[in-house]
Amino acid sequence: MALQDRIELVEQRITDACTRSGRQREEVNIIAVTKYVSTKMTASVLQHGLKHIGENRWQNAQEKWETLGSQGVWHFIGHLQTNKVKDVIGKFAYFHSLDRLSLAQELNKKAESLQTDVQCFVQVNVSGEVSKYGLAPEQLVPFMKEMQSYPRLRIVGLMTMAPFEYEAEQTRPVFRGLRTLRDELNQQAITEDPIQHLSMGMSNDFEVAIEEGATWIRLGSILVGDKEEV
Ligand SMILES: *Cc1c(COP(=O)(O)O)cnc(C)c1O
Repeated sequence: MALQDRIELVEQRITDACTRSGRQREEVNIIAVTKYVSTKMTASVLQHGLKHIGENRWQNAQEKWETLGSQGVWHFIGHLQTNKVKDVIGKFAYFHSLDRLSLAQELNKKAESLQTDVQCFVQVNVSGEVSKYGLAPEQLVPFMKEMQSYPRLRIVGLMTMAPFEYEAEQTRPVFRGLRTLRDELNQQAITEDPIQHLSMGMSNDFEVAIEEGATWIRLGSILVGDKEEV
């Protein structure tokens, strides 16, 4: 299927999920995950009006960013090693995988040296799978309190990944869990400003994530494709 057709199909499904859950389409932002595709394909994605680009490794992103950087808003969605922060700082507007103090410290330090701010999502391992990164839910409140000591980090939301399920419906408790964690943080006024965003939902489960309150969905294969087809 051509890119334009895939975009239209995904748009319809997003709209339907919003309608089912009484949400406005504008509340849901799309990150086009280009990690499987070339720079040329990424250029096409940008030309089709998708401005938010997601990559999970600098190695995969570098050529795309150097060619197309100024045309998009770049989201780092993968696990980030502390020694790789220097490669990506100042290039990505958002980091979706903040999951430990050592990373916060390094991001803050490198951002400070560039006199820039970074927008971060705190990754939570809601499902509890041992293979997944992220804070355990009970670590979230103390972690968020610590974040106030890093003035260059703006915590805009929480992020999670659901386990792959053949029945997308099975992911619902994970997404609902993340929303509940956000709502609890806000009720307890843990942060100075309320936490607004939820980064959750991928190709396999984005409709369930939207129904549970996702404000950023990260779509790779279903939208951008995993092979070249413009
Ligand atoms: C690859 C990736 C995605 C997109 O995956 P698809 O299933 O192809 O939509 C989303 N989020 C993260 C963190 C990823 O690594």
